[in-house]
Amino acid sequence: MEVKISPRMSKIKPSPTLAITAKAKALKAQGVDVVGFGAGEPDFDTPEHIKEAAVKAMREGFTKYTPVPGTDELRQAVANQLLRDYGLRYEKEEIIVSCGAKHSLYNIAMVLLKPGDEVIIPAPYWVTYPAQIYVAEATPVIIDTTEENGFKLTPEQLEEAITPRTKALLLNYPNNPTGASYSKKELEGLAQVVLKHEIWVISDEIYDKIVYDGFQHVPFATLSPELKARTLLVNGVSKTYSMTGWRIGWVAGNREVVAAMSKLQSQSTSNPTSIAQSAALAALTGPQDCTAQMVAAFKERRDYIIQRLNSMEGVTCFNPQGAFYAFPTFAGLYGRHYGNRVIGNSLDFADYLLNEFKVAIVPGVAFGEDRCARLSYATSMENIKKGLDRIEEAIAKLK
Ligand SMILES: *Cc1c(COP(=O)(O)O)cnc(C)c1O
Repeated sequence: MEVKISPRMSKIKPSPTLAITAKAKALKAQGVDVVGFGAGEPDFDTPEHIKEAAVKAMREGFTKYTPVPGTDELRQAVANQLLRDYGLRYEKEEIIVSCGAKHSLYNIAMVLLKPGDEVIIPAPYWVTYPAQIYVAEATPVIIDTTEENGFKLTPEQLEEAITPRTKALLLNYPNNPTGASYSKKELEGLAQVVLKHEIWVISDEIYDKIVYDGFQHVPFATLSPELKARTLLVNGVSKTYSMTGWRIGWVAGNREVVAAMSKLQSQSTSNPTSIAQSAALAALTGPQDCTAQMVAAFKERRDYIIQRLNSMEGVTCFNPQGAFYAFPTFAGLYGRHYGNRVIGNSLDFADYLLNEFKVAIVPGVAFGEDRCARLSYATSMENIKKGLDRIEEAIAKLK
């Protein structure tokens, strides 16, 4: 029988980063000393008190189905955290817990979008956004930002991108891959445009707690009650508590949208894992100094990596306000050669670094910005130093 996959899948391209990541893994498996800057997750272990909560839940038999949108305790803990940290007041019915923030975003796309709807996404963007919008048979509208304007969408760009088909603006700050974040004033500029139109704001704030130099994260929903009503705030435990494997994320927002997501979840995954919910509850309600310690380590690495990259010939690197990625511009090196090969784009450069110098970076083309590449600093200072030494050597060898 001929295999016919649903046309729904046809627009999802295999990630161009996969080839590089797979190659780096294969080299490592052969015992080659590869320095990896690819990690999309904190390199720290999940804090002990959080693991203990999961063990206790297991021992006490908390191993059955829970309510589909998460336990009352966990939804309340999410509400309490939003109130404590940002003064945002949500009812339990306005919060749904899912299997990671990626799943939260997927649920939003499925319940909010219909074919023909447009979602505005500033580039560089997290690779998952366009893919999920395609699966929902809607259309991502990509708006380029540049290093010169801090990788931030301007109100003018937003106004220009809005059409009668626009359903939502998808914001992500601090941003993956750039680390850029918006000040309150910049958000207010975007908000003025949003309020002129009937559109939703999907605000992925998964890196809200990973910010540097006293940067104040401002959730979009705090700007005004009117904006809160049309914002779907996405977050989770993955980055804040180094819990990527536990798969707990959530949405806070309009109760009808949350109810629709719950209905979809009831017919797809059901509840997120019971014991992971217990762990997330401990994360939200327990001591918060684990995050502060992690952020202090990230800051030290950020300062080092940004300074080193900026000192390299032909390279500039934006100083990120948050997250754990550097997103340097390597375009100044494009056109140079090694052997009989030319570095023409971000994939070529990433290939060159991996093949010749055993350093793995993620080419910017994966995030919609071919001039750049992403280096995660969720890896040890020792690795960072070694990797940057190799990159410096690689650049010096180009002609
Ligand atoms: C890591 C990440 C997420 C979600 O992670 P989950 O593990 O699914 O909670 C969402 N958005 C961005 C931009 C991320 O980098």
